[in-house]
Amino acid sequence: IKGIGSWLVNHKDKNPNKLVVISNEKRFTYQEFNSRVNRLANALLDHGVRNGDRINTLLFNTNEQLETMFACAKIGAIFVPINYRLSAKEVVYIIQDSSSSHLVYDEKLASLVSQVRTNKLNLREYIFVGKESSGDVNYEDYIYEASDGEPDFSIDLDDVHMMMYTSGTTGRPKGAMLTHGNTLWNAINASHILPFVEDDSTLTVAPLFHIGGMSTFTTPLIYKGGTIILDEKFDPQRTLELIEQEKITTLFLVPAMWLALTQVPNFNDYDLSSLRLNCCGGASCPITVIEFFQERNIPFFEGFGMTETAPVVAVLDSKNSRRKNGSVGKPPMHTEVRVVDPSDRDVPVGETGELIIKGPNILKGYWNNPEATKKSIKDGWFYSGDLARFDDEGFLYIVDRKKDMLITGGENVYPVEVEQVLFKHPNIKEVAVVGVPDEKWGESVKAYIVLKDKTKSISIEDIRQFCEEKLARFKHPKFYEILEELPRNATGKVLKTILRSEKKLV
Ligand code: ATP
Ligand code: MG
Repeated sequence: IKGIGSWLVNHKDKNPNKLVVISNEKRFTYQEFNSRVNRLANALLDHGVRNGDRINTLLFNTNEQLETMFACAKIGAIFVPINYRLSAKEVVYIIQDSSSSHLVYDEKLASLVSQVRTNKLNLREYIFVGKESSGDVNYEDYIYEASDGEPDFSIDLDDVHMMMYTSGTTGRPKGAMLTHGNTLWNAINASHILPFVEDDSTLTVAPLFHIGGMSTFTTPLIYKGGTIILDEKFDPQRTLELIEQEKITTLFLVPAMWLALTQVPNFNDYDLSSLRLNCCGGASCPITVIEFFQERNIPFFEGFGMTETAPVVAVLDSKNSRRKNGSVGKPPMHTEVRVVDPSDRDVPVGETGELIIKGPNILKGYWNNPEATKKSIKDGWFYSGDLARFDDEGFLYIVDRKKDMLITGGENVYPVEVEQVLFKHPNIKEVAVVGVPDEKWGESVKAYIVLKDKTKSISIEDIRQFCEEKLARFKHPKFYEILEELPRNATGKVLKTILRSEKKLV
């Protein structure tokens, strides 16, 4: 078995004229795409890239992003995409931490890159994608000179081909080292649990620099020989247009994107009849979104995944979504999950414990961080840091993050549960619940609230009354604070570490 680069070779031999990537109106067949990947791979080799070297990208969802991913895979280099929504400081951290030799960037991000390069970095070459001339080398010129022959390289499934930084929701982003084997097994797992076929196409508008965009449908569908339509940035209206125009059959989005899609005023004017397999993941999906699609007979799957698991861990089949509302379904064929207590014993059905995951899709380790690796991988089990429970039919429910759980007077409170109740309050637009230190109870429940209508205030009594009968008393917020907006990371996840820190409270 060869690395994931061999997927392209295989498909272009069998089906050279099949479209693999459509990006900004450019259409690439497997044959053409594989040649471009080879040119980039050979150019990198010509410029001194060696086995294990890291290549950063700051790119939108374009063919160049996928080309760089596969080019690295063909020569044993490691693709390290960076979220271009991060601040210059955060980007510098990732470039330094991964100690990369090359950066491929989009010219539209030139000002970010110019801020970044004032720092001390190991980058030897900057390659830009675009038309403008800059001091750096143009991507098309860079690959033009190089051969399009297959690089002569032997790849082991255990070799790392991609390093993705986690979203940084609970602390500094960590570089998850993913191997050829991880990406291959994820593709096998995904294709069992999300039944797509070679004739499918997917629209990838969720960012490719996150595992959800890269490997829920994108890499698994290339493994199958399907077609990927890329869009640089998410615009709900445009997404609907593209689905209609390109007759897209599968779509992965994160909850906030699905929500925005359902809110497009003339949603019903679009012909979305080509869609047959939709998936939501990355955070829990509001039931209103799921119902919206069900009412229109558009199949909707819910998935749970992590950067560290490449990503698929569990998927709830569309036909179970009403019956098992709130569940993320069951694990795929080649991955096992357990829910355990602090001494690693399986907790009884219905009880909450830590979700642990085993399978050929779990990361090799965290880059440059043996301590974090040792803490999170034991006996081949990956400790997710998420709390979960099973029901009596083996369906998995994600409860909350372990770090977010609080204990008040000896009772466990899962903030997500409290948030779900408060979210239904007519004047609450957004809410985040955290534990704050309390001399008497250890910790107390505090709610940070963004109001819908700022002219109408809210009081702790209102909140109490609203929670009455919906939540046990000890789960009721004792304190609250109104904010203009919640602090979020570049992926849109709420940063509870900031809410908990004293600094924020002034
Ligand atoms: P960091 O690890 O840096 O703190 P992160 O955990 O947010 O950031 P990701 O790997 O992008 O980084 O996200 C994985 C996490 O997202 C999971 O551990 C889980 O907490 C959450 N998640 C993903 N899918 C779902 C889902 N369907 N329902 C609930 N939570 C989900
Ligand atoms: Mg995480």
